Amino acid sequence: MRQLLGNASPVLAVVLAAVVLPAIAAVAIAHSPTAPTIAAFKITLTLAAVSAVGAAVRTALLSRGQARLAWSGLALGLGGFGVGVGVRAWDALSGRERVFPFEADLLRLLLPLGGCVLVLLLPLGLGRMSRVRLLLDGLVVAGSFVIVAWIGALEDAYRNRPGDRALLATSTAYPMFDAALVTIALLVFIRALPGQRLTTGLITAASLCFALTNDAAVSYIVAQRYSEHRVIAVGWLAGLLLFAAAAIAGRACEYRHAFAVRPPSSASVLLPFVPVAAATVATFTREPKDLLTSPTTVAGGLLIAAFLARQLLVVGENRRLFAAVTDQALRDPLTGLANRAVFHDRVSHAMQMRNRGGVSVAVMALDIDEFKMVNETFGHHAGDELLNLVGLRILTVVRTGDTVARVGGDEFAVLIQGDDDHSHVIAHRVAESFDLPYAVDGQELMVRASVGLAVADSDDPDVGAEELLKRSDIALDAAKTSRVAGVHTFTAEMEADFFAAGIVPPTPQSAATGARGSAVRLLGELRRAIDQGQLTLVYQPKLDLRTSGIVAAEALVRWPHPERGVLSPDAFLPLVRRHGLMGAVTDLVVRRALDDARVWHDAGFAIPVAVNVSAPSLGTARLASTVSDALRDRGLPASALIVEITEDVVLEGLEQASRVLRDLRAKGVKIAVDDFGSGYSALSYLRDLPIDHVKLDRRFIAPITSDPRAAVVVRAVINLAHELGLATVAEGIEDAETLAQLREYGCDVGQGYYFSPPVPFERLLAMLANPPWAPMSAKSN
Ligand code: C2E
Ligand code: CA
Ligand code: CA
Repeated sequence: MRQLLGNASPVLAVVLAAVVLPAIAAVAIAHSPTAPTIAAFKITLTLAAVSAVGAAVRTALLSRGQARLAWSGLALGLGGFGVGVGVRAWDALSGRERVFPFEADLLRLLLPLGGCVLVLLLPLGLGRMSRVRLLLDGLVVAGSFVIVAWIGALEDAYRNRPGDRALLATSTAYPMFDAALVTIALLVFIRALPGQRLTTGLITAASLCFALTNDAAVSYIVAQRYSEHRVIAVGWLAGLLLFAAAAIAGRACEYRHAFAVRPPSSASVLLPFVPVAAATVATFTREPKDLLTSPTTVAGGLLIAAFLARQLLVVGENRRLFAAVTDQALRDPLTGLANRAVFHDRVSHAMQMRNRGGVSVAVMALDIDEFKMVNETFGHHAGDELLNLVGLRILTVVRTGDTVARVGGDEFAVLIQGDDDHSHVIAHRVAESFDLPYAVDGQELMVRASVGLAVADSDDPDVGAEELLKRSDIALDAAKTSRVAGVHTFTAEMEADFFAAGIVPPTPQSAATGARGSAVRLLGELRRAIDQGQLTLVYQPKLDLRTSGIVAAEALVRWPHPERGVLSPDAFLPLVRRHGLMGAVTDLVVRRALDDARVWHDAGFAIPVAVNVSAPSLGTARLASTVSDALRDRGLPASALIVEITEDVVLEGLEQASRVLRDLRAKGVKIAVDDFGSGYSALSYLRDLPIDHVKLDRRFIAPITSDPRAAVVVRAVINLAHELGLATVAEGIEDAETLAQLREYGCDVGQGYYFSPPVPFERLLAMLANPPWAPMSAKSN
């Protein structure tokens, strides 16, 4: 695109010249058709031809392979035309008058031929058979043209003016060749890919200029109105300049050397039928015996042959197109690896072979860590490049028989057959292949990957393909959460962790079908629960530590599961995140929380509600619009909402996160950094991110009464936050001692079981109306 824009202005300038110069020339010739004017025009024409040759030669030199050949073809054609008009210009200058046609005029026929070479050879992703078909289409149109022109106009002139025969024959040859060129160029243009349209469009326009000019020329010659013929010659000037523009545009043309599947448009399939029909109709106006003695016999014979050959090719091309489409359906378009459907198919097949007493089968699942960051930092182009390189590298470390597939955005999978040891060796080789950097966009990138492996060996013969794939997924999940590098091989414990991390005891049903069946079902149920808005919210009050008044309520999501009871976020948020449902959950929570906030505002408690926003939601611009729409719909001020973000949000992409946060904050929404002090906290976030509150993590607060060092750190962070103008919130306050200490340190707000666990909405309303902690300050906020 950048290339195209950079190239656009010279192209535009030449196109403009192709409009303006011929217009001036036409006016000049029409106004004073004297010898000097004509001579000047002929010189202009020659100069235009020379510049067009120059442009084409330069493009040829700048291109490689077949493209170079193609542009050389055009250069040669333009050269022939140039010599033709050059000789005429020389004659005009030396005052010599020659009759048309003579040898140099015939050189001009090289131009449509060169044009045909150009459009047929340009590597635009057309198969060889498609090109042959295009050539035949050109011939069919040219043949039809001769028949129609002969019967319609030429025949009489030819029979009645024997002296003009050579003139008539050559001047018919031009438009005939032109008709072929225009046809081919137009068909190529119709099938061009977006990056090829400018070039092919200009070639078509140039060809059309020549065709129309030469058609007009013939009609004047047939009618013996030679002087008017001079004015229309300005069409050649336009055509030459348009060819020059095409050559310049061609330097940025996006070539395709591989066959690109493009279903031919109906226009291109039907096009040759029109002239053939016209030719057929024309022949009906003549007696058969007249036709036999005219050039129409030859043209007609050729026409029929070309037409039949073309139809045969169409059948062949359709078959090839079908094969290519089938092939593409099996491949991932970006990396050329097998796609998910094919991979699953191969795994099923491998498992069937195993059941017939074959070898063991293993599936390796791989996911690039922090791939999103690559996309955000270096752009999607770099992301695509990286995916390609990763695919290639995996291919080089597996054995030839192993199937490598890209099964999702940044997820790859490998099917390994052989004995168990093999699968482990290969999985480790793949994991280790990430020790070397990737060269993306001229930079060396160190990329990590999480690798999960599941092996179906002879120990458990009941395992099916579905089960094996699921297990590799679970192993991958474990690899991702463990943060320990290397291959993670599936174990039964992983499975238990995966679904049941926090999930209450399995139902009798799930015990019967096995934990895995239940996980699949759980995901289905989760989707339904989200779609039907079955998730609910509980609220935990935040208290001002000085007044003990409620200053905010944090919304915490729950899933009241029909069989398993109320599930806490830890039990299902990992599933939400993994299956891309976080956006939907955030939307639901924001709306529901603001619905409730509207109610307590109406009841006279103007405190904000805090919602948790985790990783993928903040990466999207959608959050800001969800929030402002939801506020507006309920007539709530932006101060009615606090957004709590966790640090992992920030880790996923500081740039994007800050942008979204700044957006929200500009609207008046307050931002809190959640869980500060856990995990990867960096003090610099407090300085760099647009935030208002810092929530000190529970695990950070808990030890302050027993560990003096922890106490010092908490006190220091509180002071630092205050220095930076941020309010501090302590979470997980469980006892009076901790509360007293935090009060002493000057912490602003507190939250925890000591005050209240998260409670249903109705209970919160009651607490607001009747605060158990500080009756005096009930409505102070
Ligand atoms: P969080 O944002 O740190 O929420 C506080 C968690 O600590 C809540 O757990 C709360 O019940 C618990 N908690 C509160 N006071 C105490 C205390 O004194 N002692 C102890 N031990 N725990 C206390 P919950 O509700 O299970 O939520 C867990 C996490 O799930 C939340 O941590 C938050 O990160 C996430 N989460 C909850 N709701 C949502 C939501 O709507 N969207 C998103 N994205 N994440 C949510
Ligand atoms: Ca929170
Ligand atoms: Ca927290």
